[in-house]
Amino acid sequence: MSDRNQELFDRAQRSIPGGVNSPVRAFRNVGGTPRFFARAQGSRLWDANGKAYIDYVGSWGPAILGHAHPDVIRAVQEKAALGLSFGAPTEIEVEMAETLCRLVPNLDMVRLVSSGTEATMSAIRLARGFTGRDAIVKFEGCYHGHADSLLVKAGSGLLTFGNPSSGGVPADFAKHTIVLPYNDVTALEEVFANRGGEIATVILEPVVGNMNLVMPSRAFLDALRALCSKHGSILIFDEVMTGFRVGPKGAQGLFGIDADLVTLGKVIGGGMPVGAFGGRREIMEKISPLGAVYQAGTLSGSPVAVAAGLETLRLISAPGFYENLSARTKQLTDGLAAAAKQHGVAFCAQAVGGMFGLYFSTTLPSSYNEVMACDKEGFNRFFHGMLDAGHYFAPASFEAGFVSAAHTEADVAATIAAADAVFAALG
Ligand SMILES: *Cc1c(COP(=O)(O)O)cnc(C)c1O
Repeated sequence: MSDRNQELFDRAQRSIPGGVNSPVRAFRNVGGTPRFFARAQGSRLWDANGKAYIDYVGSWGPAILGHAHPDVIRAVQEKAALGLSFGAPTEIEVEMAETLCRLVPNLDMVRLVSSGTEATMSAIRLARGFTGRDAIVKFEGCYHGHADSLLVKAGSGLLTFGNPSSGGVPADFAKHTIVLPYNDVTALEEVFANRGGEIATVILEPVVGNMNLVMPSRAFLDALRALCSKHGSILIFDEVMTGFRVGPKGAQGLFGIDADLVTLGKVIGGGMPVGAFGGRREIMEKISPLGAVYQAGTLSGSPVAVAAGLETLRLISAPGFYENLSARTKQLTDGLAAAAKQHGVAFCAQAVGGMFGLYFSTTLPSSYNEVMACDKEGFNRFFHGMLDAGHYFAPASFEAGFVSAAHTEADVAATIAAADAVFAALG
């Protein structure tokens, strides 16, 4: 039988670098042929061969209601029929801003953009403009989109400047980025003691989802808030992934920590390109046209994209939504861990809201180095076993997974049963 996925991948590689428009899609971490998807509905994806998969990627987070929810599709179709874009203000973007300010803690004002990358890039410019400082602190293993100053890896010593982690990023930009290990309170205290007055902002994923899933410690969160307040630095919670995913108020609500600026994306677009950044009024008023920090976008606040996001936010505000989502996600992680244990595979898992981490390790990692120490080969065999059986997990062991409200108890039970067979072969 001909493999349409392979045919499409061969063709794609002739006109698109690596055959993909975002690197992780290329399956480089796990090997094999990326699946080209033709359609999706609820918890299911269908590839170019017509094979069905239960989806645990959810477009990397946005598909919290499952795919093609009829109400979201209807909202998009109705808005699209009225014109796609005006490059001028619309009522629906005001509704979206009001909804975000009502639902997200510490959001007095918000600006809409078209991606998570734009949200974090703009929030950092704003923090620098507000404080008049240049240095930023980020953490090893946290991903904040592909802006220059955020594509930086740790220098050799803790208090050294960062090095670019991508070609094309000038060392002169990277030198303003200080990279510290996640959950390391001592390193954070040291950097503030030495350079507190230079630090415009500290940005983090308040639950990390881009080096597999890593939880923050209470001490780490408390130290972040206290040190930023003491030194006049802006604390940015990058909630592009965790916003409306770990709970209705994101990580701020989950941990009871107030950020100065918050970035959003993924779920707030419901599968369409919407990002946002917002926070305290005195900071947000520094943005043009009110203030001197420039930020703009031709398609920002696109009425069609915002319609999908607003309808998604309406549907996830239903009573019990997060209780059910969390229970379903925990059904998955508990079931997988039990199956692995049965077969003597070194494996553990954890869930937070509708987000989960799977680790080929006996302990939950709390830093980038610990994530890197997990068994990558074990993960790759698990991934391909599950893929063959029709269960689509992220094609890399450095990514969190996602469950949607469309995943049924039977879907998750089927995935656990398939995993049992895969673990049996691994053990
Ligand atoms: C996905 C992600 C981004 C980047 O968002 P894009 O829409 O891909 O540009 C930024 N920060 C975090 C935490 C993310 O998970």
